[in-house]
Amino acid sequence: MKDATLTRKSSPDHRSVIALTDTVAVGGDTLLIVGGPCAVESADQMAQVAHHLAPTPVQALRGGVFKPRTSPYAFQGMGDAGLRILDDIRRRFQMPVISEVMAIDQIPAMVAQVDVLQVGSRNMQNFDLLKALGSTDKAVLLKRGLAATLEEFVMAAEYILSHGNPNVILCERGIRSFDPYTRNVLDLGAVVALKQITHLPVMVDPSHAAGKRELVPALARAAIAAGADGVIVECHPVPDESVSDARQALTLEDMVTLARSLDPIAAALGRQLAEGAAITPDRPLAATLAAV
Ligand code: PEP
Ligand code: MN
Repeated sequence: MKDATLTRKSSPDHRSVIALTDTVAVGGDTLLIVGGPCAVESADQMAQVAHHLAPTPVQALRGGVFKPRTSPYAFQGMGDAGLRILDDIRRRFQMPVISEVMAIDQIPAMVAQVDVLQVGSRNMQNFDLLKALGSTDKAVLLKRGLAATLEEFVMAAEYILSHGNPNVILCERGIRSFDPYTRNVLDLGAVVALKQITHLPVMVDPSHAAGKRELVPALARAAIAAGADGVIVECHPVPDESVSDARQALTLEDMVTLARSLDPIAAALGRQLAEGAAITPDRPLAATLAAV
């Protein structure tokens, strides 16, 4: 792959471990499990999600506030009010939050209020956005474009890396095919290949790949078996009431069941899940409950 050596350090065994916060990282032996709704809908919704997931192996939360919707008439996200909700939730629950950035002028507020800036599939080749993110030191979750080749995907990552930000996490989320039965085709070959040709952590989003909640847990397990460093999964307190991507949202209970089902697969690969981070002296369960 032409020029792709930029993504490799001189040692072929080098793997980048990227910190989301002081206590949560991706790319090491501990898998990163991320859960949360497609979109932030209210403070109460996010508190319910965080409260349910904090004492489990799910270490980080997701929730879009700037939503790239196919229709301009569909819900576009809560915007800045949603960012304030995410900032409040991450402080109260001590869980990193991930949210999509769609435009350069959103970057300063997002850097201040979330832990990971997601670049969505539709923006994978928004080179000005990538360059601007390269000028920050925030972790960036770069999702594969809807029909991007691996070379295009890796080169998009290079834009961020070469502008000075080493904290790039790749995310395979399925690619377009002729068959609408699954929303996209989850390319697990890409996960294996990206782990071989780059030193970056590789995550998988089985939710947008599947488009149907009943397919999500098995695809998540397959992703971890293929060597992914983590999964990012959509879940919601009342999935059918999700304002976006309702059909692929898991219940919070199913999210936790999924996370725990990854444990034996992780162990078989010499890896592990984080466990019960919520119940620590820093974050006693009673305090967490009191905050809800
Ligand atoms: C999302 O994560 O909600 C999203 C819109 O993802 P993608 O860019 O992969 O479609
Ligand atoms: Mn979504």
